[in-house]
Amino acid sequence: MITSVLPTYNRAPLTFVKGEGAWLIEADGRRFLDLGAGIAVNALGHAHPALTQALTEQANALWHTSNLYHIPQQKTLADKLVDATFADTVFFTNSGTEACELAVKMARKYWYDKGHPEKVDIITFSGSFHGRSSAGIAAAGSEKMTKGFGPLLPGFTHLEFGDHDALAPAITEKTAAILIEPVQGEGGIIPVPDQCLKGLRDLCDEKGILLILDEVQCGVGRTGKLFAHEWAGIEPDIMMVAKGIGGGFPLGAVLATEDAASGMTAGTHGSTYGGNPLGCAVGSAVLDIVGDPAFLNDVNRKAGLLRQKLEGLAAAHPDVFDMVRGSGLMLGIKCKLPCADVVSAGYAQEVITVPAADNTIRLLPPLTVTDAEIAEAVSRLDAAAKAMAA
Ligand SMILES: *Cc1c(COP(=O)(O)O)cnc(C)c1O
Repeated sequence: MITSVLPTYNRAPLTFVKGEGAWLIEADGRRFLDLGAGIAVNALGHAHPALTQALTEQANALWHTSNLYHIPQQKTLADKLVDATFADTVFFTNSGTEACELAVKMARKYWYDKGHPEKVDIITFSGSFHGRSSAGIAAAGSEKMTKGFGPLLPGFTHLEFGDHDALAPAITEKTAAILIEPVQGEGGIIPVPDQCLKGLRDLCDEKGILLILDEVQCGVGRTGKLFAHEWAGIEPDIMMVAKGIGGGFPLGAVLATEDAASGMTAGTHGSTYGGNPLGCAVGSAVLDIVGDPAFLNDVNRKAGLLRQKLEGLAAAHPDVFDMVRGSGLMLGIKCKLPCADVVSAGYAQEVITVPAADNTIRLLPPLTVTDAEIAEAVSRLDAAAKAMAA
């Protein structure tokens, strides 16, 4: 008999009832060190006082009005994002995949309005993930996500990740944009080298097409810059954001330059909940903290510490771990044993990691994780690896 909750997830046998910083407390009282952060969502950990305060203050004032009216909290957060990034304008969504929907619509409308209705194709890459909406699954194109869900939204050209030679010939008079994650998340924590992001930007400029970055997982301080593309010294035309921006409140955004957004006039897009006062009040509080250069410096320092300890861990357990990769506090360990088993062995030691493709476990701790928690987490992973070897 089908469960009351649609059974689309393989859930771990864990039920968390409370969170404190980098810790999750299981219903039976066990305290888990959380290196998953709800898949890079709890950027400031659990129950951060500034976020709880922003949420409760807004909850006591006003929850929702709809986008029929002005929403000051939405403008405040949009202003902050515009100040902090390449973007001139922001649309708020409730999720990453809704941001993907708008990014695709925006790119197509851009060319339509410029008198090029034939420019509809978007180039994407193997191993990518852009969410589970019809545009999202068609964009990523993997069989796992698309099988049985046809007909798929047309207009996506899928290239092999890292195949530089395939890129230029794939751009045709129908190409509207290139869409890429600066660091693939679900794909197994695979960064696009800075040189390659620069090359993509140059190629887009040369061919006159748009560059769309999906920073849903790698954005909002995760890599030690507010947004990951800053490491490469480039700017996109359109960027998708979600996960960390709400710190646990469902919130996403599409950021764009004035030119890229020029087709999105009144009536062309909307969302009932997107940008509601609660979400934007929390998002503002997240950005105030994560956007502080001192905070980001500390993320980079801790990222160096975690990475160094993980390199040691991998070297100590060559039968379990293959290699460490990633950027900032978005790290992956490619495993030699099945990564799902490594994640389970971590649960037994009360440390949470997240499986990804390419047999990789993801470590996405809250950006507020302490040095002591990093040391404790790695020692628990060491115990997990020892238990697997035994
Ligand atoms: C999680 C994710 C999405 C989808 O976000 P949802 O909020 O689950 O819709 C899109 N792109 C990337 C890179 C992601 O990691």
